[in-house]
Amino acid sequence: MMIVDIVKKHEPITSEEIAAKLNITRAALRPDLSILTMAGILEARPRVGYFYAGKNTKSLLAEKIRSIKVSDIKAVPVVIKEETSVYDAIVTLFLEDVGTLFVVQEDGSLCGVVSRKDLLKIAMGNADIRQIPVSVIMTRMPNLVTVTMEESAFDAARKIVEHQVDALPVVKPEEFEGKVKYKVVGKVTKTTITRLFVELGRG
Ligand code: ADP
Repeated sequence: MMIVDIVKKHEPITSEEIAAKLNITRAALRPDLSILTMAGILEARPRVGYFYAGKNTKSLLAEKIRSIKVSDIKAVPVVIKEETSVYDAIVTLFLEDVGTLFVVQEDGSLCGVVSRKDLLKIAMGNADIRQIPVSVIMTRMPNLVTVTMEESAFDAARKIVEHQVDALPVVKPEEFEGKVKYKVVGKVTKTTITRLFVELGRG
């Protein structure tokens, strides 16, 4: 587009100067300038003139990543009950080929998270892991880091990095008898984010 090319070449440039270059009146130019400014392609600075503000690749990428929702990328969670033994939890880890297990109460609401290292730590001691329930070793509510479907893939990745965990349960808050409970509806893990990264890289 001619206006954009002129601004790119001569910025900062006033509307009079642009109009003169195009051999048109300022009034004729005004609608186009306001559209370009509103679209974020040009930036108008009072008493200085117009600048080219077209979005660069970096901000487009950031916008794309923020536009992807947890609901678009979430994976199937593996859940166990609080009374599951540490031994059975380890078996589940192998059978389901996951690194983190989410622990739920009888009503299906989230109460804890058990990671590989939580299980390794207890298994290395002399404890009878067939007798010990996972509820003894799990990280529990309210210390759990979670995401909801509406949050972005970026939010999830940021939480994984900031809290130094491998997996986040995707939860749906539900009010039950005045108390908020969190139903587990998915998971976002380092693998989920890596997969998304590969997809984005493919273009
Ligand atoms: P690993 O211990 O196998 O490296 P993590 O880094 O995910 O796996 O776990 C580190 C610690 O954080 C563990 O004690 C685990 O119980 C806890 N943890 C894991 N995921 C979460 C989460 N989403 N919210 C809170 N704590 C978590």
